[in-house]
Amino acid sequence: MDDAAAKDTGVISAADEQALIDSIDRWLTRKVAPIAAQFEQADEYPTELVHDMCEMGLFGALIEPQYGGLGLPAITYSRIVARISEEWMSLTGFFNSHLMMALIVQKFGTQAQKEHWLPRFATGELRGGLALTEPDAGTDLQGIRTTARRDGDVYRITGSKLWITNAIEGDILAVLVKTDPDAVPRHRGMSVLITPTRDLETGKEAEGVSRGKKLPKLGYRGIDTGGISFDDAPVDARLGLVGGEEGKGFLMATGGLEIGRVNVAARGVGIARRALKEAVAYSQIRQTMGKPIAQHQAIQLKLGEMAAKTRAAELLVEDAARAYDRGGRVDLEAGMAKWFATETAFEVATESMRIHGANGYSKEYPIERLYRDAPLLIIGEGTNEMQRIIIARQLIARNPV
Ligand SMILES: Cc1cc2nc3c(=O)[nH]c(=O)nc-3n(C[C@H](O)[C@H](O)[C@H](O)COP(=O)(O)OP(=O)(O)OC[C@H]3O[C@@H](n4cnc5c(N)ncnc54)[C@H](O)[C@@H]3O)c2cc1C
Repeated sequence: MDDAAAKDTGVISAADEQALIDSIDRWLTRKVAPIAAQFEQADEYPTELVHDMCEMGLFGALIEPQYGGLGLPAITYSRIVARISEEWMSLTGFFNSHLMMALIVQKFGTQAQKEHWLPRFATGELRGGLALTEPDAGTDLQGIRTTARRDGDVYRITGSKLWITNAIEGDILAVLVKTDPDAVPRHRGMSVLITPTRDLETGKEAEGVSRGKKLPKLGYRGIDTGGISFDDAPVDARLGLVGGEEGKGFLMATGGLEIGRVNVAARGVGIARRALKEAVAYSQIRQTMGKPIAQHQAIQLKLGEMAAKTRAAELLVEDAARAYDRGGRVDLEAGMAKWFATETAFEVATESMRIHGANGYSKEYPIERLYRDAPLLIIGEGTNEMQRIIIARQLIARNPV
């Protein structure tokens, strides 16, 4: 953490901010590092660590203090995410998906919706995520088929979502639906509904909701990613329809992705940093031809490039986070940070694995997990193909001739 983290943001004092970061550091060393590999390999939900993250306020990290959150600026948030990802990236997914749901309410919700949901989101009493993707629609979000029709005081949702983080263990989701499937252009018929997936009194499955199984994954394990189906599932219209107006959901969902992209880019920084650190250490210990491999020029060329790219990724993430904190849309900055930092994470993890030789292929060394975690970052929160298209479109829009 550098000095900028200690800047007084006007929301949280510099001292409180530093104390939070220090306490996360201590928690990572004491509680996460000793068990991360074991839980990850067993793909086991880390209940106690999720509880700890609620206690530390991470589920309310970006929620305004008036609703019980920490109200952190994105710059501090991105540093926390990068630091946790150095230890175990999956942990950041629990609270980031949840915060993307919360930010939709905070940014676009009615006053009654903010007062009703945000305090319970901030403590982690209710945990959830953002349900956009469907079996037949990921990048092309306007092609979703899940619908919601008004029925008196409720909306009734029908359809299926897939690849949803916090869908199995969570309590609630911000679900992107079509309230007018025939609208042209298609995004005008889309809305977001805050949808409890459990009966919030009894904890049982909510009416009309069926959770799928946790999906087995290459990496990013431990966290529950799954499918969820809705069959005429009722959602209270007043508390559920974000902003109280149909047809604004596409903007809400894609606006939420900007902080999601800063978060994914920060995860990339964490992965790259740790992979670099492991490579620097290992290459000084492992000997071939009578000297540490770090003294072979072929390895030095790799380390030099890995270090420079990791630093460049850190700076781009800072740039995007600061732009986010200044306000307004940050598609360009978040897109650049997301693309570069996550491609860097993938490259640096791969190079570090190669530097580790056969040991890089062993579950006894952390590099194997970093290597499996990195590819998700290229896909999630908008694929890296789409990021470059977004960057180019923004460049053209900001520089008309
Ligand atoms: C572990 C994990 C967790 C996830 N968590 C969530 C979550 O919590 N909530 C949620 O809603 N979603 C989640 N997702 C889904 C994720 O957001 C989507 O997978 C992603 O948006 C890509 O969609 P897709 O998989 O349908 O790929 P597709 O859209 O089918 O794309 C396939 C390929 O085609 C390329 N492509 C598509 N369209 C274009 C185009 N117009 N131009 C150029 N190239 C294009 C893509 O870049 C990609 O390479 C998660 C995914 C994973 C793997």
